[in-house]
Amino acid sequence: MPKAFIGLGSNEGEPVANLTGALRALDNTAGIKVIAVSSLYLTEPVGYENQLWFHNCVAEIETKLPPTRLLQVLQGIENSLGRVRTVRWGPRTVDLDILLYDRVQIDSEKLVIPHPRMTERAFVMVPLAEIAGEELFTDGRTLNEIRSLLGNNQRYSCIPQKIW
Ligand code: ATP
Ligand code: MG
Ligand code: MG
Repeated sequence: MPKAFIGLGSNEGEPVANLTGALRALDNTAGIKVIAVSSLYLTEPVGYENQLWFHNCVAEIETKLPPTRLLQVLQGIENSLGRVRTVRWGPRTVDLDILLYDRVQIDSEKLVIPHPRMTERAFVMVPLAEIAGEELFTDGRTLNEIRSLLGNNQRYSCIPQKIW
């Protein structure tokens, strides 16, 4: 069955409850099974800095759903948890992004896979490498290699709290 990695983030409302709620909703969706979830991280906002730090994690799923259908499911879960889009990269109850979907590459108006900004983001690459470090990116490098090239200007810390 196809395997995908989903990036989760939240900095509004109750972030930990939002992330666990989103993981539960994902796992309860027909055709999706959550296989592994990274540690929970507290990370500095990137792109728009005047907001609270984010709680982030990455989940590995197995899914029968094609990528476009998976995106609709993620957006439905975001909406059900009260996501409102105001400021780009601004505060949100929950953001669910498709990072990788097998070795698939898509570049359409509504969906780009691999996620176009993932390799620059510590809040994605650190939790992703934790659960899938030896997996290959589409360019043949391992996720650990890509992670190790990140500068240390994005601050983050691991939170010792089990969320899955
Ligand atoms: P970023 O994409 O930089 O992380 P964001 O997650 O805050 O920003 P959203 O407001 O959640 O952006 O989504 C904007 C649009 O991005 C969505 O409507 C969706 O169509 C599109 N999109 C493109 N590729 C992806 C992807 N791989 N995962 C999720 N959304 C995607
Ligand atoms: Mg995002
Ligand atoms: Mg998003």
